[in-house]
Amino acid sequence: MTLARKLYLGCIADDYTGASDLANTLTRGGLSTVQTIGVPADDLALPEVDAVVVSLKSRSIEAGLAVSRSRSAEKWLRGHGAQHVLFKICSTFDSTDAGNIGPVMDALRADSGDAIVLVTPAFPETGRTVYMGNLFVGSVPLNESPLKDHPLNPMHDSNLVRVLARQSQTKIGLIGLADIARGPDAVRARLADLSGKGVGAAIVDAAFDRDLETIGAVALDHRLSVGASGIGLGLARALVASGKIKSSVPSAAADATVGGPAACLAGSCSQATLQQIAAAEAVMPVLRLDPDQVIAGKEEARRALAWARGRLGEGPVLIASSSTPDQVAALQSRHGRDAVGHAIEQAMADIAEGLVESGVRRLVVAGGETSGAVVDRLGIPGFLVGAEIAAGVPVLRAVGAANGEMLLALKSGNFGGPEFFSDALKLMR
Ligand code: ADP
Repeated sequence: MTLARKLYLGCIADDYTGASDLANTLTRGGLSTVQTIGVPADDLALPEVDAVVVSLKSRSIEAGLAVSRSRSAEKWLRGHGAQHVLFKICSTFDSTDAGNIGPVMDALRADSGDAIVLVTPAFPETGRTVYMGNLFVGSVPLNESPLKDHPLNPMHDSNLVRVLARQSQTKIGLIGLADIARGPDAVRARLADLSGKGVGAAIVDAAFDRDLETIGAVALDHRLSVGASGIGLGLARALVASGKIKSSVPSAAADATVGGPAACLAGSCSQATLQQIAAAEAVMPVLRLDPDQVIAGKEEARRALAWARGRLGEGPVLIASSSTPDQVAALQSRHGRDAVGHAIEQAMADIAEGLVESGVRRLVVAGGETSGAVVDRLGIPGFLVGAEIAAGVPVLRAVGAANGEMLLALKSGNFGGPEFFSDALKLMR
């Protein structure tokens, strides 16, 4: 990939839907942005942009692998001029005691030479706020939110200073909301104080967008930050305010019509997605996969494809593997958590591949890991960000894809309103 213009912001996202969410936020914040799938190949032609979001699928893999992939993404971004790199994590801090937020942060911090790193998953517009280091999802602490039942990384502690300390080699500190409210210089002083005490990373409180602007302005003094799309918003606004970047309007090319059959896939078991599937039943044919059959072999995916092929001519269809937390727990106890997740993700990728072979050019996918498996299988190297479907979910136009023009929407499980699937298809023409 060649970039004639200087890259102001480089981002490494630990999953694909999180990357789209961030790319969407940066675009709305005034930065022209491209999302790539993995580290771009040298011959990939991409438009000139202010920011590149490299999407990895490193949230739930072995920590050592997440570290090495993140480091090669960082090397590529720095090599293309990125002065600041944001390691983008989930706004619900999805991780386990084995990682991968802590190990990746430690490695990138060592590479960047920063004494202390600002860390915040806060993203107030989607209800993620941090107070006294505790992450709230809407009105409840993280450990009381639906994230306590996540199939891959159930979150049982809302205190992120504790959570990150269990994953990182460095001492973790806190910058409270009172310091943030006093503005960038107060935060800088507090960071210097913490750094002097040997703290290598600070969880930063934030409850409003103005807090993110303060955090963004301070983060630009550093080479690395860690957080969700909220800190991306802060960084984008700080870059535009600094006059380094002229706020750009999203490209019209990203929204041009593609046509062709449309389909939706749901592999997320989040409460939001379960509701969205139920709502979709009123407007399109819905096939619910039998998860035991998916684990038993390839036949269930073939059956789903045959079902879809017979209906695509009449309008969009939805294929879902999603089940309730009780059913997920029962299935995992029968087959093991990783085996279940992997088998269902691969079945979704098989189905997506078959759908595209059958002419589908507009595809909506619900679930972070699920989207990762699908996009990998389709071999799409990157996306231009288009119109926003719901907070954090843009329409994506494939760039450099072998199958030609294609529109996708990749939704993190918890995102979107009840009518998400039809909302998405209305904008994906
Ligand atoms: P989210 O964005 O909600 O976290 P993901 O796709 O990232 O969604 O994660 C959901 C995980 O649950 C995936 O690994 C997926 O394969 C798995 N999964 C999907 N359906 C089921 C099911 N019925 N039972 C158990 N696990 C499932």
